[in-house]
Amino acid sequence: MLNEVLVYDDTFSKDFKTEGVNRNVLGMVGTGYLDGKMLLSKHALELGFNNQSDKNNTAIHEFVHLIDKADGDIDGVPKLLLDKQYVIPWIDMVYEEMEASKIKNSDINAYGYTNKTEFFAVIAEYFFERPDLFSKKHPKLFEMMSKVFKQK
Ligand SMILES: [Zn+2]
Repeated sequence: MLNEVLVYDDTFSKDFKTEGVNRNVLGMVGTGYLDGKMLLSKHALELGFNNQSDKNNTAIHEFVHLIDKADGDIDGVPKLLLDKQYVIPWIDMVYEEMEASKIKNSDINAYGYTNKTEFFAVIAEYFFERPDLFSKKHPKLFEMMSKVFKQK
């Protein structure tokens, strides 16, 4: 499913230009003619691994999109990793959390609230970088993520 990882020196634009405006992409999982490829910014990778406590890590983020995609669609539901009986609770929990975020401040990166797909990738960064904090602040999500990634 993944046959190539392309590493760009710095951020790039949505149409893969490394010069000019709108170069704000840190990484992405290819679709269409880029199927099977992952594109990553070297700069973002370094930042992600140099800072272990900021809950941000581009490599984790993009690999989680890839895991999400492995069941056929990138939809924020990792059906390959989640036992069947947990799929519905997972969707409910994500929905609830996204709704709740409209009324309360969340310590989850705001980008995660873009949609369910980004939410899954963003909380995975948090989960792997700051597991203790994540389990304290988001016990239900932590428990579910532990099931997804078989960390228990
Ligand atoms: Zn993403």
